[in-house]
Amino acid sequence: MEKLIELKNLYKHYPILGGILRHQINAVKALDGIDLDIMKGECLGLVGESGCGKTTTGKAIVKLHEATKGEILFHNKNKAGKESVIDVVPLTNRKMKQKGIRGKLQMVFQDPTTSMNPRMLIKNIIAEPINEQVKLSSREMESRIKKLLDTVGLGGQHLLRYPHEFSGGQRQRLAIARAIATNPDFIVLDEPTSALDVSVQAQILNLLKELQDKLGMTYLFVTHHLLVVKYISSRIAVMYLGKIVEVAQTKDLFENPMHPYTLALLSAIPNTNIDKRSKRIVLEGDVPSPLNPPAGCRFHPRCPFAIDRCRTEIPKLEDVGNGQLTACHRKEDVAKLVKDTFGFSMKR
Ligand code: SF4
Repeated sequence: MEKLIELKNLYKHYPILGGILRHQINAVKALDGIDLDIMKGECLGLVGESGCGKTTTGKAIVKLHEATKGEILFHNKNKAGKESVIDVVPLTNRKMKQKGIRGKLQMVFQDPTTSMNPRMLIKNIIAEPINEQVKLSSREMESRIKKLLDTVGLGGQHLLRYPHEFSGGQRQRLAIARAIATNPDFIVLDEPTSALDVSVQAQILNLLKELQDKLGMTYLFVTHHLLVVKYISSRIAVMYLGKIVEVAQTKDLFENPMHPYTLALLSAIPNTNIDKRSKRIVLEGDVPSPLNPPAGCRFHPRCPFAIDRCRTEIPKLEDVGNGQLTACHRKEDVAKLVKDTFGFSMKR
């Protein structure tokens, strides 16, 4: 598979200002040097607890938040089919438009109510990103918007309505229509189903799958819901406190997790098991503050298998076979450690 996006040593620190002169006294280290490849046509799930940096990663890629340092390489194909690799980090919005890549990177948010102007008609909401790209006559625009509404399972009769006239599921369909209006190559889906009823969640997930097959798009699916990500993603990356700790094919991650944090997450899924349902790895304590993350492995204060080395040395993401990457000093022993400590096998 070819790469579409490469994150290289990417940082996003939010400064904390203080003192009379309002100078920087600290920083929230939301992303602290992450490396991640996103392949063309795949749906990559990004999971982890709240505040681990999942949404920040998505926002940095689509340039809603400026990365502090590092590279976001986008493998772009122009209209003539010529491929080039562009680092979007130093680009301004204007430069992104000039290079024709602004509309190729899109995002769908968790709550469509807050991402749509309540005073705008649906036709104007969907027309906005199209107008940024091309000038169409009003007849052409209307026909394009109707087509987009059809694609997401709505109809032309919704053109002259306001966002509040729709249900949550319909509003999410509208948000998807707006995101695909510019024919993007890549969409960040930021918890797109968490605010919806379970039956509607399934409809939106199926719609996203259909669109991916039909339009050949690439997704980064951000969520804390492991069963949702298991259903929709072909690969999964696990984040903890601003770092990627494990990346694997979905099947490999669920059957053979190699990082203690992934193990704890999987063991917490209701009605599924590491071995048997009731067997869980319960993590002690809270996630440390991203203002002062622990030295060495960020997970060491909560890891049941931490050793001295973990407190000082940051583990690197390393291939453990099958393209599975894990950042843990004890990756080779994890299966035995789980068996010895908790009395069950992690392999399923
Ligand atoms: Fe646990 Fe050490 Fe592995 Fe971190 S590096 S996950 S602390 S065993």
